[in-house]
Amino acid sequence: MSETPKTGNFITQIIDKDNETGKYAGNVMTRFPPEPNGYLHIGHAKSICLNFGIAERFDGQCNLRFDDTNPEKESLEYINSIKKDVEWLGFTWADEPKFASNYFDQLFEFAVQLIKLGKAYVCKLTPEEMREYRGTLKEPGKNSPYRDTSVEDNLALFTQMKEGEFADGAMVLRAKIDMASPNINMRDPIIYRIRHIHHHQTGDKWCVYPMYDFTHCLSDAMEDVTHSICTLEFQDHRPLYDWVLDTLNTAHPQQIEFARLNLNYTVTSKRKLKQLVDEGHVEGWDDPRMSTISGLRRRGYTARSIRNFCERIGVTRSDGIVDVSMLEHAIREDLDQNANRAMAVLNPIKVTLTNYPDEQEEIFTVNNHPKNADAGTRQVPFSKNLFIDAADFAEVPPKKWKRLTLGEAVRLRGGYVITCDEAIKNEEGDVVELLCRYDENTLGVNPEGYKPKGVIHWVSANHAITAEVRLYDRLFNEAAPDANHESKTFLDFINQESLLVLGNAKLEPSLETAAKGTGFQFEREGYFCRDLVSDTLTFNRTVTLRDSWAKIEAKR
Ligand code: ATP
Ligand code: MG
Repeated sequence: MSETPKTGNFITQIIDKDNETGKYAGNVMTRFPPEPNGYLHIGHAKSICLNFGIAERFDGQCNLRFDDTNPEKESLEYINSIKKDVEWLGFTWADEPKFASNYFDQLFEFAVQLIKLGKAYVCKLTPEEMREYRGTLKEPGKNSPYRDTSVEDNLALFTQMKEGEFADGAMVLRAKIDMASPNINMRDPIIYRIRHIHHHQTGDKWCVYPMYDFTHCLSDAMEDVTHSICTLEFQDHRPLYDWVLDTLNTAHPQQIEFARLNLNYTVTSKRKLKQLVDEGHVEGWDDPRMSTISGLRRRGYTARSIRNFCERIGVTRSDGIVDVSMLEHAIREDLDQNANRAMAVLNPIKVTLTNYPDEQEEIFTVNNHPKNADAGTRQVPFSKNLFIDAADFAEVPPKKWKRLTLGEAVRLRGGYVITCDEAIKNEEGDVVELLCRYDENTLGVNPEGYKPKGVIHWVSANHAITAEVRLYDRLFNEAAPDANHESKTFLDFINQESLLVLGNAKLEPSLETAAKGTGFQFEREGYFCRDLVSDTLTFNRTVTLRDSWAKIEAKR
């Protein structure tokens, strides 16, 4: 699938204007600022495509910056996975990845400056007291009794905080703004707190850590970011973003908010995704049912399909819910155009061609793609003993049956027409083998005097390879798993049929050498990809051929 053409949005319009007025001398600089406290998910992909996409569009640059101010929840594993995912999506950050922790020295100095300006103070209220003093949406807050401490005393205390002389939580540094502000974020927000904890980047150097709202705007300013793009929940933080930069008289990037991606049948919260992993509901962050980028990749999603999806959902300022079938459509469309076809029998049943010579074998040359000759051909062996899918035979067929049944003919895809004479059953009465006849005059031509019912896929039993095939489906069977469901949580909506493992699938031999991660259309079955992780031959279903959930939803 070719890339969806990039249309503008309200943010590119803002930047067009800024470029006309020369506001930032034309150098567009954006950043993608994940906190390394989990793996990236499809919501982050929207932000990545937006930030890196804008940099590309305006010939600017985008930083990858780890917002690492909460060391207790962060790790190197997460940092590495984030880098890998951004690169895999096809983007290149400016220079080296940045870390907010790179700026801890400067941030500390900025905090000292605020104190010197009389715009920050050390506060010893307990968390409970602080909550009480904060006020509510309707009631203004009250000034902290520590608000008027002298600049000298504040400087001394803040230095002692840094020197490790106080326990965690004993006091905090707060910005001195306005306890009566209608915006609670402006009611003397905490900007530094004490945490005696090892940091993955700075080791044991620090026991005071800056808060997000203080760190983020200043990191943007220090990196010469021009447009600081974030999700709508930060709109109420923008006055604080602006206050810090104005008060410290630094460079002043413009914060612009857009609506986050919400996908139905999906959770996109790192906390909840981590819970799914930690409690063993899935096999890991890269479980193919996860909405993580690593999960989608292992499921068989291509980077291009995710970029196309992000382009199509657009960028707006109003919250909405995107149907997950749009994401599924993006990969189906990509694989339809780009994936080679192959034959795989997922639930095999034996077929013996009674009139085919015992020792004979043939090799059929088959197109890899029905619409793309450049995809080339492959060799598919044929013999007296075949497998077809058990679901392609019915002794008592329903109306309009287009597959195999007694006394009727079907075409084997790319091969002969066969007619079924007899179904052999075991003691339980299950069909275990079909005796059929082939018509030797039907290779590539229609039979004379009769018409096959349909076309089915098959593999030669003498040549087939056995593989594990994992049929993945949506992880949740409720459209809004993390909405408020009274006594239920999102875990109560896990789809118990989201993974079905078939251990005895029979595949055509060409699939034995498929590279890990390669996607295929298994004819008549769906899109599959060779698992990226397993060393044995394992294929994951990426998506079905058609949207089977549309029907289920229509019935609701
Ligand atoms: P989560 O709620 O999953 O923990 P987060 O916002 O806390 O997400 P961050 O690591 O802080 O995660 O996010 C990095 C960037 O990705 C931020 O700019 C954030 O706004 C953006 N982002 C996160 N989730 C989404 C989403 N669902 N849609 C669009 N952008 C998102
Ligand atoms: Mg966050």
